Formats: sequence, C-alpha cells, structure tokens
Amino acid sequence: QPQIILLKEGTDTSQGKAQLVSNINACTAVADVVRTTLGPRGMDKLIHDDKGNVTISNDGATIMKLLDIVHPAAKILVDIAKSQDSEVGDGTTTVVLLAGEFLKEAKPFVEDGVHPQNLIRSYRTACYLAIEKIKELAVSIEGKSLEEKKSLLAKCAATTLSSKLIGGEKVFFASMVVDAVIAIGNDDRLNMIGIKKVPGGNMRDSFLVNGVAFKKTFSYAGFEQQPKKFLNPKILLLNIELELKSEKENAEIRLSDPSQYQSIVDAEWNIIYDKLDKCVKSGAKVVLSRLAIGDLATQYFADRDIFCAGRVAEEDLQRVAAATGGTVQTSVNNIIDEVLGTCEVFEEKQVGNERFNIFSGCPSGRTATIVLRGGADQFIEEAERSLHDAIMIVRRALKNSTVVAGGGAIDMEISRYLRQHARTIAGKSQLFINSYAKALEVIPRQLCDNAGFDATDVLNKLRQKHALPSGEGASYGVDINTGGIADSFTNFVWEPSVVKSNAINAATEAACLILSVDETVKNPKSESAQGEAAASAMAGKGRGRGRGMRRR
Ligand code: ADP
Ligand code: MG
Repeated sequence: QPQIILLKEGTDTSQGKAQLVSNINACTAVADVVRTTLGPRGMDKLIHDDKGNVTISNDGATIMKLLDIVHPAAKILVDIAKSQDSEVGDGTTTVVLLAGEFLKEAKPFVEDGVHPQNLIRSYRTACYLAIEKIKELAVSIEGKSLEEKKSLLAKCAATTLSSKLIGGEKVFFASMVVDAVIAIGNDDRLNMIGIKKVPGGNMRDSFLVNGVAFKKTFSYAGFEQQPKKFLNPKILLLNIELELKSEKENAEIRLSDPSQYQSIVDAEWNIIYDKLDKCVKSGAKVVLSRLAIGDLATQYFADRDIFCAGRVAEEDLQRVAAATGGTVQTSVNNIIDEVLGTCEVFEEKQVGNERFNIFSGCPSGRTATIVLRGGADQFIEEAERSLHDAIMIVRRALKNSTVVAGGGAIDMEISRYLRQHARTIAGKSQLFINSYAKALEVIPRQLCDNAGFDATDVLNKLRQKHALPSGEGASYGVDINTGGIADSFTNFVWEPSVVKSNAINAATEAACLILSVDETVKNPKSESAQGEAAASAMAGKGRGRGRGMRRR
C-alpha cells in the first residue's frame, strides 16, 4: 500500500478524544484563573507586563484581556468575556466560570466515549429551558414612579459594585451612577457620561456634575485676568485657531518695495482682530475651541471680561455642545444666537491639584460627568472600570426593566428546575441535562468559597429551600454577611435579567463550540506570522457564532 501524503511536511495534527479533552483542560485552567474574583468577597488580580504597567482588577473581561492567552481553544473564553462586557457590561466572570464548568461536567462523558453531538444537543435544550425560566422568574420594574425606579436601579448598581474595590462606598456611588444615567436619558452614546479621574483626596470627595467638567486646558498669559465664574453665560464653541499666524511658511510673497511689507503684517493683524471682534460681538461670555487660542486672543478676551479655553478635547467639546445646546462653529462669520449654548453656572474650580472647568445646570441636560477622587492611580483606574460596569447595568435595567435575584439564587432555581425537568426525559439526555444543572451551581459555590464559607453546607441549605413545593424559597441565595442563606430579593441583591440570560447563552455557546472541535491542525508556518492570522481567524469564528445566538 503506498502511503498517502495529504498535508505538508511538518504539519502537526492532533485529533479525537485526546484533543477534545486537552481543549477542555485548557478552558478549565482559564476559568480557574478568574474563579477567585467572583462576588463581593472575591479577590483582585494584579497583572503587570514587561513595560512595567500594573493593573489591579476584579473585572473578568479586563483580566482575560490582559492575560494574553495563546491557546486557540481557551481564546474563545476570552472572546465571550469581551462580548459579555460590551453587550451588558457585567457578568464577565460569571460567563467564563459557567463555560468552564459546563466543559468540566462534559469531560467524564467525553472520556467515556459519548459523542459530543449528543452533549451539545442536550446543552442547547437546557440553555433554552434556562432562559425561558429566567423570563418567567424576572420581575418587572416598569410602571413605577421615577423615585421608586431610581431606588430600584440603585439596588442593581449596588449589587454590581459590591464585588469591586469601591464596594465599601457602593451606596454613595450607586446613587451617583443612577443620577448620571437618568440625566442622559435615552441617549445611546455612552461617552455622554464622562468620568474624570483626579488622583488624591478621598473616594467620598468624588462628585457628580449635572453637565460637563473637564480639566483646565493649557493657557497663555492673560488667562488669569479672565473672570472664572458666570451665571447664565452664552457659550461659543469653535473649531478654529485664534492665533496670529505668520504666513511666511505657508505662502510665497514677492515684494518689490520694502514698504509693502508693512501692509502684509497689518493684514495678518487685521484678520485675527476681525475674528476676535466677531467672537466678542456674538455676545458669548465663554469661548471654547478645539484648536489653539493664542496669547493675543487670550489677552483680548481678558480685556473684555470673556473666558476662553483652547485645545479642548474633541469629546469634551461634543459633550459641552450636547449639554448646552450649542453648535460647534468652523467660522466666526455670522454667528447667530441659535448656535450659542448656555448653562446656569459656569465656573473654574479647584479639584485636588487640578483646576476644572465646570458647566452645570445645562438646559438639555443630556450629559453628566463623574469626577473620581482616590489614592493611587491603579485604584482610580479600577474604580473607573467598576463605575463603567455599574453604568452599563443601570442602562440595561432601565431598557429591559426586569430584574432577577442575585447571589446565586437564580442559578440555584434554574438548576432545580432543570433537574426536575430531566426526570421527565427518557434516555441519555437525562444525564447530560443533570450535569448542566449541576454546573450552574458553580456560582453560589464559588461565592461561598471566595468568602470562606462552607460551600457544601450552604449549597445543601439552598437546595433544600429551593425544593420547597410552595416555591417560596425560589429567591434564596448566599448571604454574604453571615455565611448562611437569605432571600436575595428582599435583601436587594438584584441583577438585571439580561445579565444572566446573556451569560448563560454565551457560556453554553462557547462550551458547545469547544465540544464540536475534534481536530486541531497546525501547519509548519503557523509558528511565524501566519500563526497570528490563524489564531485570530479561530477567535473570529468563536465570536461570530456567539453573536449570532445572542439576543438583546
Ligand atoms: P461578574 O464579573 O460576573 O459580574 P462579580 O465579581 O461582579 O462577577 O460577581 C457577581 C456575582 O456576585 C453575582 O452572581 C451576584 O449575584 C453576586 N453578588 C453581588 N453582590 C452580592 C451580595 N451582596 N450578596 C451575595 N451575592 C452577591
Ligand atoms: Mg460584576
């Protein structure tokens, strides 16, 4: 028999059961990394790279991103964490843990020779049932008054924040986040909520500006003579340079008579004075520009009691425009009143070591800015990430307006439901659905482990409560304060239902995807540049599938 050569020399393939088991092991290892960060008593990870950047984080997505995983199958877990982060913003550790646990539960079956497709089919069914159950258990917050809604949303935000570094001040930050989200209303642009970080001071010195705040920009002489506070000023937003330009670099001018030179200099001065004059005539008291405002202009405005700031960051300028109702102008000709913005109070204020320009009481009120204070840089960075999670959660809860009980309560309830359902199934599928149900218990178990409680004990109590035929125990979860169990619903440990349904969906998809791979081929070139492409193609595949299945 002649040997058939199919693949290039040096190609490495591994296939079959061994390959599948090794992929599962890789994913379990990844899940083990983030395992300890789950929940209010979870630990943080310190990650530093060769450039000396240090990040301390509790956020699953951030950790996964920084780990720089190279294993092609384990990369899928990084992708689901990322997509959970962008879809709902929270539950990133949960999604990785669940996927890892689903795979772990599948491993003995695979080793025993069960065909992966059987597992996949059962997992999909279980996922569908779980999501239906979440829909059934979700409690709507629709139709409540604004005050009631606010306090409900603050509870959701507090649950998210409780697992973070700033958890100690969760009530303070939760109400701040809710105010910020309600301020921007239906605006979909997340950057309408600005977060400014000012190192130093105490966490509690952080404050919310109902409008825009940004750090004082670079300024020239004369700036100190400008007034720093206005009530109801008109605000002019520009995208032009207000600087004396010497044109000699840009143009070639031929002069036949030295006296003509003066006229050119004069013309330049006239141009800039003309521009400045038009700004003043518009009636604006505050002039902001994305481009530079030079020393001449600064002095000119100072003499006329006008405040100016140049080189304002694009994002900040857009937010000022949205908040004050102004429009950014690219010319100073014909400035009509409609393009000028206004706000109740404009002032420049000292915050820690920095000076801030603050626009508050804005008429259209579509922006809000949180000024974060706190000790070390890493601390503020993590605080910002945590607030981002909370902001996303409040927005999600506001949009979908249904919540479920957290602290592992919903996971236990789905688990119970699936076990019960499994009993009605004849055949092997019963076992697989039971395993899926068991995997869901990882959330309460890990919450206990991370807090130092006896997980077996707590889980048994939870199972017993959830099994009550009256269904009154359905919202019992881990009580993080006493080490026992408590009704998460009445304790206000709430999560938007979309966090859970999205996490379960994405984790199941990832597990099924990994179970469906039975062969990895590595061609000899993949060591070099091609490796990157192949890896990203694989990652891309994972992402593509995940997105297709997810619902909003
Ligand atoms: P993730 O990145 O998945 O959001 P977290 O570290 O934020 O992970 O932990 C979230 C888990 O912690 C959720 O299951 C949530 O229900 C639980 N949790 C949050 N606050 C509490 C609390 N006060 N008591 C019990 N469980 C809580
Ligand atoms: Mg969280």
